[in-house]
Amino acid sequence: MKVRFWGVRGSIPVPGRQTNRYGGNTSCVEVRPRGQWPMIIDAGTGIRRLGKFLMESAFCNGSGTAYILISHTHWDHIQGLPFFSPFYTSGNRVHVFARQREDTHLQAVFASQTEDPYFPVPLSSLRADIQFHELVEGTRFSIDGAQVACTRLNHPWIAMAYRIDADHAAVVYCSDTAPFADVLLEHEFIKTPPQPGSPLPQAVADKLAQMREGLVTMCSGADLLIYDTQFTADEYRQRPHWGHSTPDDAIAIAREAGVKAVCLYHHAPMRTDEQQDAILAYYRDLCRRAGDPFEVIAAYEGLELVLGEDE
Ligand SMILES: [Zn+2]
Ligand SMILES: [Zn+2]
Repeated sequence: MKVRFWGVRGSIPVPGRQTNRYGGNTSCVEVRPRGQWPMIIDAGTGIRRLGKFLMESAFCNGSGTAYILISHTHWDHIQGLPFFSPFYTSGNRVHVFARQREDTHLQAVFASQTEDPYFPVPLSSLRADIQFHELVEGTRFSIDGAQVACTRLNHPWIAMAYRIDADHAAVVYCSDTAPFADVLLEHEFIKTPPQPGSPLPQAVADKLAQMREGLVTMCSGADLLIYDTQFTADEYRQRPHWGHSTPDDAIAIAREAGVKAVCLYHHAPMRTDEQQDAILAYYRDLCRRAGDPFEVIAAYEGLELVLGEDE
């Protein structure tokens, strides 16, 4: 399968000279098993260009099918969706998958994104056939022969990680998440950052440990682990309640799960290309010295990886 990165930034798009090489668009990764329709993980602003690319194939005459897996519905993971060109051609089929909410149906969440006064074209006017599929964590399903699994992450209002197995290879997408220590993030805004390292109530510690275990199990033996590494260690200490991790957290999971490559992803909006280069070089060196068997890479727009058997 091919994995292509169309948007690698967290929080907000940041075009400009200092972000040109890694790219300024927000979260969007395409996973394309050999000979199959695209599976798209997250619909940040990077999905706009992916949509244009798809319109050069079967999608231009309304005979395309796309599967969009949403980690969660924060802006940087859905903001490009109304600009996804295949939506505007009848005949195209688009399946959108995301975690089930207790209060609102998924379709209503996405419909509200394009309501007046935010956008001129309501969801109901799109020409493609769009179907919404609600997921609960732990659900396993298949898409055109690819196996998909999901598990919950530690993020305000909860995000989902996905694993896709196809062509005898596996990729895991794990964004956004805080480490599984210091704070349990659920359905509330935590105003005051907790002190990293402070003891937690046992029930909270148990829940975090269980969540982490679920993620490690899901990542087991994956060829590629794409991980939220928005923060440096210092930034994390100041904002542990924001729901993001550091490369150290990604590497710890990669070691336990025995993955073949770990990919730094969801780069902070203020991170310049030079700073990102330095972070990558530091962690590559750290893992080389530790004798880690996996590769450390950093996602950039246009990065294309081939996993397992491909043409
Ligand atoms: Zn995000
Ligand atoms: Zn988020």
